[in-house]
Amino acid sequence: MSSQKPYSFFQSVERSFDKAAKFTQWESGLLEQIKACNSIYSMRFPVKMDDGRIEVIEAYRIQHSQHKTPCKGGIRFSMAVNQDEVMALASLMTYKCAIVNVPFGGAKGGIKISPRNHSAYELEKITRRYTAELVKKNFIGPGIDVPAPDYGTGEREMSWIVDTYQSLKPGDIDSAGCVTGKPITQGGVRGRREATGLGVFFGIREVCNMEPVMAKLGLKTGIEGKTVIVQGLGNVGYFCAKFFREHGAIIVSIAEYEGAIYKADGINEEELFQHRKATGSILNFPGATNLAKNGDALELACDILIPAALENVIDAENAPNVKAKIIAEAANGPLTPEADEIFVEKGILVVPDMYLNAGGVTVSYFEWLKNLSHVRYGRMEKRFTENMNAHILNQIEGLTGKTVGPKDKEFIMHGAEEIDLVHSGLEETMINATREIMEIMEANPTIPDMRTAAYVSAINKVAISYTELGIFP
Ligand code: GLU
Repeated sequence: MSSQKPYSFFQSVERSFDKAAKFTQWESGLLEQIKACNSIYSMRFPVKMDDGRIEVIEAYRIQHSQHKTPCKGGIRFSMAVNQDEVMALASLMTYKCAIVNVPFGGAKGGIKISPRNHSAYELEKITRRYTAELVKKNFIGPGIDVPAPDYGTGEREMSWIVDTYQSLKPGDIDSAGCVTGKPITQGGVRGRREATGLGVFFGIREVCNMEPVMAKLGLKTGIEGKTVIVQGLGNVGYFCAKFFREHGAIIVSIAEYEGAIYKADGINEEELFQHRKATGSILNFPGATNLAKNGDALELACDILIPAALENVIDAENAPNVKAKIIAEAANGPLTPEADEIFVEKGILVVPDMYLNAGGVTVSYFEWLKNLSHVRYGRMEKRFTENMNAHILNQIEGLTGKTVGPKDKEFIMHGAEEIDLVHSGLEETMINATREIMEIMEANPTIPDMRTAAYVSAINKVAISYTELGIFP
């Protein structure tokens, strides 16, 4: 990775946007409005640390677009957080939601801290104070702006947020919908934890089932037997590895911040996770070889490379060495625009972040709907469906004189539970988005790559909703 970046992250998002805008018919003023970040809240607040020191915390919440409300997007805890990064990530959220038809505007939050350098108590104080700042400025609420987990945050932080919000807004009946990615006991939805990884899997599986696309890459259809490299063993990377492995792919290499490992016959992500928990590192995993640098994993031969950590990890410098046939962008913005161009030239298929990692926000949408409806998915109809299915089965058995085997019987009778509905809604969303983007590419063969096609889809949808709002009559 080079240290000198010719573009900032936000500029690279703008660049991709402009490239795609040329394939649309919208007037330039409207395009400018879509591109702009509407509301930027940059804050500094003091927090007393465990040792008595006062630290000034730098944090942001940026709402890129309110063409649909609430705004939606995660909050990250990382030392790399800065305004430009949060602006870029907020923009990506707008486009992502548009592509997968999730009716939100884009937003993102960031707190410039390294979670490893703080105690749980300090993290709680920082998160609660951040939430209070958002409440004060009307930057959070089920109808305003709904945060979620991102890099460095998870269910624990989301429960601090909802608790702080509820204590400041007593009586707000929809308050559980002020944040998503909560634990189930605090109003979360089953299936949110694995949603991004599972969405990546559904999206790539759909691409891999497209015969002409695979033929062009010299690959067979299907996931089975494909070699996969995953960068990042956080929530997204872990579940990507799990679903690909469970469907017959071989995870040959995994990279983390402390290093990378290679194992030709495949890594089991759960065993690696436990190994890391016990030893503090993914290195020295039994049966695997340690690589010299963590970045080396990106350059190994494989069918599918999944960057599932941070932005800008593949740039003009290392892109020429990448040997993967498909790059599945599980992270937000892992490729620079230069890397993108190199891959188009090399015929490597880049499946873009903007829709591929939309599983998280899609299931967040389901969680938000659950919170607003105050009822668990499946509660009303599960038993009814099961009774009805039992009745139909009895009738069939009676009429045919044959009996259905116990395994099939169980499958046919089963009424959908929350997890079934969430996974099915996610699968449908990811399949449709993949097909929609591929259709845009087929309809206009001058569109050079899937990212541009995804942007075209997003721009069209956001532009239509702006014009329908009557803002630009
Ligand atoms: N942080 C995730 C993303 O980048 C999820 C956002 C959400 O659920 O609102 O898409």
